[in-house]
Amino acid sequence: MQSDILDPSWSGIAHVSDATKAFLAQPHKLLINGEHTEGVKGNTLNSYDPATGEKLATVCTGTEEDIDNAVKAARAAFNGPWSALSHFDRAKLLKKLAVAIAEHAEVFTELEVLDNGMPRFIAALTVENISEMFDYYAGCAQHIEGTTTQPPRHVAMEAEALTYTLKEPVGVAGLIVPWNVPISTAVLKLAPALAAGCTVVVKPSEETPLSILLLGQLLKETGFPDGVVNIVNGYGHDAGARLSAHPDVDKVSFTGSTATGRKVISAAMGNLKKVSLELGGKSPVVVMPDADVELVVPGIALATFFLQGQNCMAGTRIFIHESLHDEVVEKLIAFTSSLKIGHGLQPETFLGPLISAGHKEKVLGYISKGQEEAAKLVYGGRPLAGNGHFVEPAIFTGCHRDMAIVREEIFGPVMAIQSFSTTNLDEIAAMANDTEYGLSGSVWTESLSTAHALVARIRAGQVSVNCHGAIGTNIPFGGYGQSGWGREFGREGLDAYLETKAVTARLSARQ
Ligand code: NAD
Repeated sequence: MQSDILDPSWSGIAHVSDATKAFLAQPHKLLINGEHTEGVKGNTLNSYDPATGEKLATVCTGTEEDIDNAVKAARAAFNGPWSALSHFDRAKLLKKLAVAIAEHAEVFTELEVLDNGMPRFIAALTVENISEMFDYYAGCAQHIEGTTTQPPRHVAMEAEALTYTLKEPVGVAGLIVPWNVPISTAVLKLAPALAAGCTVVVKPSEETPLSILLLGQLLKETGFPDGVVNIVNGYGHDAGARLSAHPDVDKVSFTGSTATGRKVISAAMGNLKKVSLELGGKSPVVVMPDADVELVVPGIALATFFLQGQNCMAGTRIFIHESLHDEVVEKLIAFTSSLKIGHGLQPETFLGPLISAGHKEKVLGYISKGQEEAAKLVYGGRPLAGNGHFVEPAIFTGCHRDMAIVREEIFGPVMAIQSFSTTNLDEIAAMANDTEYGLSGSVWTESLSTAHALVARIRAGQVSVNCHGAIGTNIPFGGYGQSGWGREFGREGLDAYLETKAVTARLSARQ
């Protein structure tokens, strides 16, 4: 059994709507202070379809000087028109934007597929989700509320007094975004930041610069004041580094690799700006002896291979109890070979390409390393034909904790299976927790008590039972350990952009 590409010569650009073709044909500039600009140095980059290598567009890229201009615009908007709006006025704009996104869903979806390579059904879901996200945070904006309390006597200096808290926006926020789910990772920062009353500078990934530019157009059309959202496409070492270090940025919210996250922290130290980090993962999937195999097989295949494994939550360390190991592996191979690989716009496609030639080489390097370290490659792992960056999903058995494919985040379709014999939950949890990361994890069992006892022992920000990577607009998401700082989604996602001010007022006259 082997996987192959549906048709390596199938052109995505030839199959998109006229509206998407028109968007691709227009100039792709930076958005600073409400103006579309080519940037101070006039630099550009080309964006390519990772499934075919076809050029999609040339995009203007900003440098440090453009970041400085964007931060200045964001500060002026924060000190001016944006802070003058009430929570309710901001909510109205966010709701309008949610509607505008839904009206442009097809173009957003096609841009995400072309630029990133993801299958259309995933892109369509993420676009639905970003509209929902603006709607949800519009609701949250209407509920930004402090508390009231009676202060202790010594605080009130023996007088009558009242203490209350105000929730205020952090200020100017720098949002740095990766390429794996581009518009979604941008919006799950942007929507709560705007709801909280912050103004922002967004630095998208150089690999996927397009869909955020469409969002920029809609922000203008729906009436967001100039400078509230500034979009500076560009490279990490230049635009990204300046945004992290900028002395007039109050907060940086970063999603990307743990290695880059460390650089962001060091850069942010200059003015001690607040930092939120959503970083890498190497998440465990634990299959207990009483698990339902028919549920487990597709479940763990998707845990690892969803988005070609370019997924921070990917379950890549698979622990299967020895009593089920052989049956699960056999069925997993059959199931994986049924997953269609192709251009994301082809309706049958379940797995698309990797993001770039460089990333494909990195993933193939890990597959070779797994073989060198004597893991058994029982399925896939070949590069596939054509100009796209396709790699067949790989399943390794016989893995152990010291192997590179078990320890390091590959961010590709590589599954590392280990068999275990114990039923002691502390020992099983110790295997699951044997990683520097702590983003996600899942437990597969028919026993409620085993499920919850094991969930309580797993050190990760998100643990699912009989499913994997269950994310949602109102479900907090973030990492333990080196997977990050803070949470996104839900109320906690909003709190990340708010400061708390405590106010104490003496009420009685001087005695
Ligand atoms: P990356 O760290 O290479 O880049 C992320 C962003 O940081 C890009 O916009 C890049 O231009 C920018 N950047 C690069 N160098 C920088 C610097 N010195 N200063 C500031 N910004 C800089 O990550 P990637 O390859 O784009 O994305 C893959 C990684 O993202 C994986 O590790 C994955 O696990 C992680 N990720 C995490 C989550 C999460 O929610 N935890 C979600 C998606 C992706």
